[in-house]
Amino acid sequence: MKEEVVIGLEIHIQLMTKAKIFCQCSTDYIGKEPNTNTCPVCLGLPGSLPVLNKKVLEFAVRTSVALNCKINQVSRFHRKNYFYPDLPKAYQISQYDTPLGINGYMEISLPESTEKRKIRITRVHIEEDAGKLVHEGDITFSSYSLADYNRCGIPLAEIVTEPDFRSAEEAQIFLVKLRSIVQHLGVCDGNMEEGSMRCDANISLRDAKTGALGIKVEIKNINSFKAVKKALQFEVDRQKKLLAEGEKIMQETRHWDESKFITVSMRSKEEAHDYRYFPEPDLLPLKVDLKMINNIRKNLSELPEARRKRFIKDYQIPEYDAEILTSSKALGDYYEKAVSLYSNSKVLSNWIMGELIRYLNEEKVEIKDSPVSPEKLVGMLKLMDEGIISGKMAKDVFEKMFKTGKDASQIVKESGITQITDENELIKIVDKVVNENPKSVEDFNQGKEKALNYLVGQVMRYTKGRAKPDFIFEAIKQRVKE
Ligand SMILES: [Zn+2]
Repeated sequence: MKEEVVIGLEIHIQLMTKAKIFCQCSTDYIGKEPNTNTCPVCLGLPGSLPVLNKKVLEFAVRTSVALNCKINQVSRFHRKNYFYPDLPKAYQISQYDTPLGINGYMEISLPESTEKRKIRITRVHIEEDAGKLVHEGDITFSSYSLADYNRCGIPLAEIVTEPDFRSAEEAQIFLVKLRSIVQHLGVCDGNMEEGSMRCDANISLRDAKTGALGIKVEIKNINSFKAVKKALQFEVDRQKKLLAEGEKIMQETRHWDESKFITVSMRSKEEAHDYRYFPEPDLLPLKVDLKMINNIRKNLSELPEARRKRFIKDYQIPEYDAEILTSSKALGDYYEKAVSLYSNSKVLSNWIMGELIRYLNEEKVEIKDSPVSPEKLVGMLKLMDEGIISGKMAKDVFEKMFKTGKDASQIVKESGITQITDENELIKIVDKVVNENPKSVEDFNQGKEKALNYLVGQVMRYTKGRAKPDFIFEAIKQRVKE
């Protein structure tokens, strides 16, 4: 049987409102003492009543509109019942049969293809987050767990796609673009490693000939962009192997183990009826008037797609550069700041996509914390334009800037790594090299171009790379012809 990969995603994004979804507790809980960001509402104490934070609704409508969803003008909250100590109420307030946004889509571009793929968005709904359990040691053997309810009631939007992905790579491309969109909308910081964006996936294999659907397996706990592709690919390969061996695939939930690079079985998959959904009696139906939707639509911030097109048009950079520079809001902002201070937009994009991104990845630094600010990068490029440092020196200077946070001019001053601009001094060195290498000079005069490179290399060696290569080339040519 020839199989086709079928993947659908469910993504939770943490909405960046100041207050929680149904109470006035602050959402700023990271690093806080456990259980200090709580109140009777988010602790689910008897008699407390939830009140919807209007900002949460606005952020969720913004997200739905940006994902081309139809907004249900009347939607409802439901109770999703489950019993686990991270949820003191024993139910989560979520949306069930009438979510806020439905029938949307997002287009993604595939590598080495001009074709765009439309990924359908099934729904966008609002819900509250649960608390966090801290287990003593390994969860299986721990003798106790601690409950921290600071995260209870943090607002989430859940985005569910149709099973439209045909490979792990497509799913990853989608996620990167979705992150950039929610960042540009200002509704979520998109930090997957810190849990403000979480992804679960459904994976099955379909018979390519008959279209017969396979058994779905759900993968949970994928917590980095790198892990997405690895986890999904692992699961696709695992299922293919099982089928090839004539084994059955179990419908289950599996967990991605980042340390071992495998998925492991967690539990058999629960069905919707296991949650005993029923309408939340403490909240009125959620009404969104047309005026609000239109207002949000009109004032929607520029999305990555539009920004990419504007970068190509305004800064005359290739499509590839624009795609990378708009892949995150912060990177796009960095570029725009730099380009407002420096006119050569392509040189800037080269440095950002090359050295800057490389060092950020290597040192695991977020761009907003980059020791090399746009101003500092531009300062270095200007030294290059003035001929004070060469392109090669600039790479060393950049590394020092990144490691020390100092200005380029300060680094150049301290280490004395300027180009030799005194031409008389350079000519003297050229004379010396020519006199010391009569064989190379002869070779060059007999038409061996390579000999010239050797002579230039010798000058560079004497000057420790501080000579201007163009000038040296010309000077040697002149001198050898004499
Ligand atoms: Zn609260």
